[in-house]
Amino acid sequence: MNLGKLADYHMHTPLCRHAAGEPVEYARKAAEIGLGEIGFSDHSPAEENEFDDWRMLLEEFPEYLEGVSAARKAVPELTVRLGLEVDYLEHGEPWIEKLSSMTDYDYLIGSVHYIAPGWDIDNPKWIGRWSGIAEIEEIWEAYWRLYTRCAGSGYFDFIAHPDLPKKFGHKPEGDLRRFYEPAIEAASSSGTAIEINTSGWHKDCAEQYPARQFLEIMNEAGVSLVISSDAHAPDDVGRDFERAVCLALDTGFTQSARFKQRKKTLVELPTVTSGS
Ligand SMILES: [Zn+2]
Ligand SMILES: [Zn+2]
Repeated sequence: MNLGKLADYHMHTPLCRHAAGEPVEYARKAAEIGLGEIGFSDHSPAEENEFDDWRMLLEEFPEYLEGVSAARKAVPELTVRLGLEVDYLEHGEPWIEKLSSMTDYDYLIGSVHYIAPGWDIDNPKWIGRWSGIAEIEEIWEAYWRLYTRCAGSGYFDFIAHPDLPKKFGHKPEGDLRRFYEPAIEAASSSGTAIEINTSGWHKDCAEQYPARQFLEIMNEAGVSLVISSDAHAPDDVGRDFERAVCLALDTGFTQSARFKQRKKTLVELPTVTSGS
């Protein structure tokens, strides 16, 4: 499959303390596999550096910008965009606005990792909190309530890994549309795109984020699609994009979104030819 029509916009840098490889190496990898465009979107600084230990410090933000520029210069044949992955927190709006004004981004990604202060649900450290059916239901409810607000906030160009609480394999009983539909509706009314995040295939859940049913509803609602790797190492760039394109086509999508200076355009997805 020719990946030239695809962009990988969800990529990290070592500044977040849990990713490896310099931005230049991510860009070289993207060029090597034939991606047309990439963008960096490292975990944003928090208002207080002590907030957690998996994001860049506020004073490192200029270094982040320099890393992205260096990647752009080193691989001139590739389009390199500037983004940022921002946590949507309860009462976090003033800080999101501050981050949004710190530079001229091509796009901002909204994520929910925290459902309560100090509880990042994708952190293996808290695995013991997922003890029973009642807990799973409650965690999913708390997560989707916040995710739906994130989707409707209008702060973001696209939102990341929708069904992240399934990461360790925890899913509530019954029809999960009750969680999906409000978030998709919110994204649709704010004009926010949503990603297929291929990293889920490499987690305990062994499934892309979001589930196929989510994608079907999202397509019916006319919400734009982004395909991302959530790379935390150069080798992750564009990982499983062929598989994601097949899933996207299969669930009815024909296009994916591009962002430049926070303006969205749509590009046709690559076609699947036999043997590709
Ligand atoms: Zn990360
Ligand atoms: Zn990420």
